[in-house]
Amino acid sequence: MSRIEVGILGATGMVGQHFIKFLDGNPMFHLTWLGASERSAGKRYSDAAKWHLGGAPPADIANRKVEDAKPGNAPKLVFSAMDASVATEIEQAFAAAGHVVVSNSRNHRMEADVPLLVPEINPEHLKLVAGQQKNRGWKGKIVTNPNCSTIVLTMGLAPVMQFGVTKIIATTLQAISGAGYPGVPSMDIMGNVIPYIGNEEEKMQEETQKILGTFAGNRIDPLAATVSAHCNRVPVVDGHTVTVSVEFSSKPTHADLLHAFQTFKGLPQDRELPSAPKQPVQYMTENDRPQPRKDAERDRGMAAFVGRLRPCPVFDWKFVSLGHNTVRGAAGAAVLNAELMQSEGLLD
Ligand code: NAP
Repeated sequence: MSRIEVGILGATGMVGQHFIKFLDGNPMFHLTWLGASERSAGKRYSDAAKWHLGGAPPADIANRKVEDAKPGNAPKLVFSAMDASVATEIEQAFAAAGHVVVSNSRNHRMEADVPLLVPEINPEHLKLVAGQQKNRGWKGKIVTNPNCSTIVLTMGLAPVMQFGVTKIIATTLQAISGAGYPGVPSMDIMGNVIPYIGNEEEKMQEETQKILGTFAGNRIDPLAATVSAHCNRVPVVDGHTVTVSVEFSSKPTHADLLHAFQTFKGLPQDRELPSAPKQPVQYMTENDRPQPRKDAERDRGMAAFVGRLRPCPVFDWKFVSLGHNTVRGAAGAAVLNAELMQSEGLLD
């Protein structure tokens, strides 16, 4: 298979670096274009970006010139990891010019004609892009992936949605890498917990209802279940943990739920997409797992790890879900979205 050329908007930032690392060796995509602000444009990547990840950027990337984030000479498929203050206009300019923008930024996630895609959960939501071309006149399209804690919650919930979820309470313990670089000051987070992350609870609540909602022709009918999120920043480097209590309409047993977690699979697994984890939700039976330091990196950081399924005295059942926030919660999620789009013929 000849690889498809791709670019990254916001290639110099924290998530941009995760894209570079995650795309290295991808059999479907070949990274050939790096875009960033005018502060970086024209410089060699290694001069423009301070590399924050382990090791070094691939040599061909380190020497590549950073481009201005303008449509023109970029490949048709671009991943976006731009600062939210500029992503709206720039992503729309690329979509209007015929580019396929697979974005990690929050800017377009909740727009009615933009898929908020998790390939194992809602691949049919991709059909929304037809509306973008019809209503906005774009030659290209924008597809988004969820916020880094929302994806951990929704992947944990997806296997059990069949039992009629009516109420959800989710409490997060979110890693500091989710705040980008330099992120939270060390004096604030060392030996501490910060019980506030701006707009995060609202994002988790509304994005969950959209992701788990139903495709209804040209729109998504949001999930009717009520969702309450409590978001906390904790002194963990990578890996968001979410503790979840769920009320069900059909009163499943422990065995029903365990079976659902253990057998859950989606289209990326059926199609053996390159970045798909073999088992997207992995149930851990030890009573002190999953843990971010021990489990977040498993399966390249692309799976959700669930454990501690037990009765909830307020709702019906409670459990823990863990995922890698900068991989499955950011760059890896977008790459898997693009792989699904390629397998659907949407990159032609
Ligand atoms: P970041 O480190 O601050 O990087 C921002 C990127 O945007 C840089 O490449 C920067 O380029 C570029 N940029 C800024 N102004 C620009 C402009 N006018 N034109 C073109 N490019 C411009 O931020 P980040 O943490 O990687 O986050 C990037 C996006 O991903 C944000 O929307 C964030 O909300 C979202 N996100 C982050 C995480 C996470 O774990 N950090 C997780 C999920 C989603 P220069 O270097 O040239 O300034």
